[in-house]
Amino acid sequence: MAGPETYDVVVIGGGPGGYTAAIRAAQLGLRAALVEKEEKLGGICLNWGCIPTKALLKQAELYRLFQRADEFGFTVGQVGFDWKKVIQRSRQVSERLSKGVEYLMKKNKVEVVHGRGRLLPGPKVEVRDGTVVNTLTARHIILATGSRPQTLPGVQLDGNQVITSREAMILAALPKSLAIIGAGAIGVEFAYFFNAFGTQVTLLEALPQILPREDEEVAGILTKSLAKQGIQIATGVQVSAVKIGAKEVEVRYRGKEGEVVLKAEKVLMAVGVVGNTEDLGLEALGVKTVKGAVEVNERQETNVKGICAIGDVAGPPQLAHVAAAEAVAAVEFIAGHQRAPIDRGSIPFCTYCQPQVASMGLSEAQAKKAGHQVKVGRFPFSASGKALASGESEGLVKLVFDAKFGELLGASIIGAEATELIAELGLAKHLEATYEELIHTIHAHPTLSEGVMEAAGEAFGLALNL
Ligand code: NAD
Repeated sequence: MAGPETYDVVVIGGGPGGYTAAIRAAQLGLRAALVEKEEKLGGICLNWGCIPTKALLKQAELYRLFQRADEFGFTVGQVGFDWKKVIQRSRQVSERLSKGVEYLMKKNKVEVVHGRGRLLPGPKVEVRDGTVVNTLTARHIILATGSRPQTLPGVQLDGNQVITSREAMILAALPKSLAIIGAGAIGVEFAYFFNAFGTQVTLLEALPQILPREDEEVAGILTKSLAKQGIQIATGVQVSAVKIGAKEVEVRYRGKEGEVVLKAEKVLMAVGVVGNTEDLGLEALGVKTVKGAVEVNERQETNVKGICAIGDVAGPPQLAHVAAAEAVAAVEFIAGHQRAPIDRGSIPFCTYCQPQVASMGLSEAQAKKAGHQVKVGRFPFSASGKALASGESEGLVKLVFDAKFGELLGASIIGAEATELIAELGLAKHLEATYEELIHTIHAHPTLSEGVMEAAGEAFGLALNL
């Protein structure tokens, strides 16, 4: 390693939180180092999460679209796929982006130190790479160590028959059947993916609806759509045992129809993640943790001076874009900027199955619970010219407003490109926009985004195309 090992900022963890923090620090003229234990930069998001799964999901979407060729006037022979190539493409996309992060580190003169980082009193950071141990001194340390999949008590992940999303995205062969435990973003996305390619999928969720953090009405529409696509869905289930057999795995659960024994070739555990807080030296320095996450204030500071935490290790919502936003905020606070903490009220939540689901702010139920008198506007994509022209007329835009002031409180969208459409609503909420500002903003015709304008109008009796 060149130069003195003293930095303004040392970041532990090279995922979207960590590398963003290092870049922002360098931009602000701070000497930054990024410690990463894996060979590749980019963390789970780039290597084993957001990015490769989005490649796979696009492929699933295309495969399903090919099957609708006749509807669009095309004559094609039987459409098949090469599973190895399907997987390979997603790995290539990850590889390319990870190299992109390496380039960004070089461009910004961030020193990348490979090895496992651990806090030492000082505070300092010890980096262990095999037998080589380095000690880095820093004015500020940012913990960005991410999270890992959780399992259920008594259920062992063997990496072959009982797997996590990491193994699921590189399976050597398409499984005939798959039971997925947990219907959050991971469960639903993989259910869509494997079902599209022909696996018999059963999705089991403990809570009363799939995507439990989403609007009930939207989750209901998604449930019907996924069921129509062929996915078996059971909600309100209690899984009591997962038993690995020679060829199959047995999942025992209690559902609405009583005790069920489900057999599947593989089981995917998608019951959430837990922060990587272990073996970081937190206890020795007295860094407080709560429910498996490092406790932080609005400035991302822990209770120990000079140590911040960002991203999944700092608790929910465990999303790459939240990690990146926390990274920028943490570094700007370190640099003494006068800025607001991140706006947690307009964080977008996106699930990339088809139809896509995206939301931000309060759902109708949450807004009512928070004491708002609400006005709700809906616009179904079946009334959208662009949606019909594209053959994607499933779903709706649902907007929730405060009845008195007309302020946007939240949005839920289900349908094609929902994950892109939500950005406008995040901006609107961040700027405290009202329905009037949404309907006075001219939306291009024909676009799916007109649905946003129409839904805003519908809430106040001003829809034009319904
Ligand atoms: P999650 O917390 O979003 O969902 C876990 C689901 O498992 C919940 O619905 C929960 O009720 C259910 N569950 C818990 N225990 C259960 C049990 N015993 N039986 C049945 N169901 C049970 O977590 P996830 O889907 O594993 O994803 C992990 C993290 O990664 C989350 O923070 C998620 O937001 C994030 N992620 C985001 C995206 C995206 O933004 N598109 C994609 C993948 C993952």
